[in-house]
Amino acid sequence: MADIIKLLPDHVANQIAAGEVVQRPASVVKELLENAIDAGASSIKLIVKDGGKALIQVVDDGIGMSGTDARLSFERHATSKISAAEDLFNLSTKGFRGEALASIAAIAHVDLHSRTASSETGTHIKIEGSKVISQEVTATPKGTSLAVKNLFFNIPARRNFLKGNQVELKHITDEFQRVALVHPGVAFQYYNNGSELFNLPKENFRQRIVHVFGSKMNERLVPVEETTDVVSISGFICKPEFAKKSRGAQFFFANGRYIKSPYLHHAVSNAFEGLIKPDTHPGYFLFLEVDPRAIDINIHPTKTEVKFEDEPTIYAILRSAVKHGLGQFSVVPSLDFERDRNLDTPYAYQEKEAVLPKVAVDQAFNPFEGIDSTKSVTPSFKKESVTGWEHLYENLEEDSNEAFSSVHFESGLETPEIFDQKESELAPTQHTFQLQHKYVVTTIKSGLLVINQNRAHKRILYDRFLERKELCKGVSQQLLFPLKLEYSLQEIQLLKNLEQELVTLGFVLVFDDKESLTITGIPNIMTESSIATVLAEIVNQFEDDHTPKVSNADLIAKSLCKSLAVKNGQQLVPESQMALVNDLFGCGEPKVDPFNKMIYTLVGVDEIDKKFV
Ligand code: ADP
Ligand code: MG
Repeated sequence: MADIIKLLPDHVANQIAAGEVVQRPASVVKELLENAIDAGASSIKLIVKDGGKALIQVVDDGIGMSGTDARLSFERHATSKISAAEDLFNLSTKGFRGEALASIAAIAHVDLHSRTASSETGTHIKIEGSKVISQEVTATPKGTSLAVKNLFFNIPARRNFLKGNQVELKHITDEFQRVALVHPGVAFQYYNNGSELFNLPKENFRQRIVHVFGSKMNERLVPVEETTDVVSISGFICKPEFAKKSRGAQFFFANGRYIKSPYLHHAVSNAFEGLIKPDTHPGYFLFLEVDPRAIDINIHPTKTEVKFEDEPTIYAILRSAVKHGLGQFSVVPSLDFERDRNLDTPYAYQEKEAVLPKVAVDQAFNPFEGIDSTKSVTPSFKKESVTGWEHLYENLEEDSNEAFSSVHFESGLETPEIFDQKESELAPTQHTFQLQHKYVVTTIKSGLLVINQNRAHKRILYDRFLERKELCKGVSQQLLFPLKLEYSLQEIQLLKNLEQELVTLGFVLVFDDKESLTITGIPNIMTESSIATVLAEIVNQFEDDHTPKVSNADLIAKSLCKSLAVKNGQQLVPESQMALVNDLFGCGEPKVDPFNKMIYTLVGVDEIDKKFV
């Protein structure tokens, strides 16, 4: 048989390598930002268009490249960062594989401008799909500008696989934040479709965190500091009362590089144990410095997973450092698990200083005058009830119940098969009772129907929200006092993108500045006290973004029904129970809730009969 093995041509090899290096626009952003950092830049600009699909450009003021280097940088395994295998164990740069530029140039249109400090003229290179289109001498500032256009132009399957611009932008922002956080000494600017998303001056780490996550972050941070022979740990953790349902702000950096480590994450979570609710996550920004020889960053192609030589020791040190941090700032005793801070005071008021009452004081006043001195005069401070927040839900419940009673249960509605019986047979629905404040039980001809109240209500609300949306008739009620809410830059960005949907639902809102919005009208199906929770839930859903394919309207409806549905454990008056049952079977799909969970189960008479034989 003739020989059949051939070496792949370079451009094919590069395309294959690109599959590993470049999954999406955010991967390009990561590589380019890291190259700029490695080039010693003190100021870096990131420009993105259409979620990075149309353009990703990184401009730096670093060391630049000579004409020859500029050309070479696009060759595979071309790197200035290591020259021998031993160097791999002593890395101080982000890059070292020399694959990124070659891979990117294989699957996009690339435009490079670069000049070194010692050269008067710079180089301009154009490459399309690994093919050099032109290389010429040009006038350009010191440093490098690399523009990547039309990513995956020659791999339509990959291009089609990309998510919507918004989702891709979110991934880019994640990468940007990771790099920006670990390099506070470098100034960053970040633009999307011409508008500025971040403008970060050179600053210290704490300032950088606050600039990235919004000014309210400042009061939340507690420093962590620990130096040992094995590892030096520094950075911040967020006070336990600010633990969030989403895993938003959790960052580990090892030797200047963002890393993921479920193992070390566990160490931090463990230190927080008992201080935060089980379904919430602590925020942290922690730097680990270890001997470069004691860390292997090479085990994963995208280099976020690392291997430490002495993981158990690092685990123990980290855990105790975090515990120490928590203890030192005596944040522990002020905890109150049951309290939902979102519901406390409108954000705007939390910021305000307390106004000192101006009272004329009677200096001669003696509070003990006339009191029987034998009586104990222990002041009786009324301790705020930990369950007090429930009252804040009162309106909400009322509201939900009202939603029940305003049912349009039409007798002519198509009912699912378990209600295939004649209309009169539905009559027993007049009898309902609640089991453990969790299930609404009713009887039908063939048996007992046990309904999960929370899921049933979710289904009802979800359908109602979508219906409202489709009919575009969100009815708004005006707030007596506008409600000002504060968010981080990204959260505001996210809410801005949903503005259309929110308005359709009945929200009237104005975006004041980069970190706050004012609400003057809300959908009439909500109460004012629930707004902060509802919007927080919406932000959560979108941040988690596990199901990017569903529409915004759907995600909003899901968030709303999640936060507004009656909870399990909540007592329902008989009328509400009845309305719940009737409403549920007025829905098109009463069997499962919007999250695909079973809503009810039927315990058939025959099953019961069997128990009596
Ligand atoms: P790596 O970063 O792994 O070395 P890359 O493909 O990302 O591989 O880059 C190849 C080489 O191009 C780098 O080693 C560096 O010498 C040069 N280079 C890339 N980007 C820049 C930049 N922004 N400024 C200066 N040199 C750069
Ligand atoms: Mg690189």
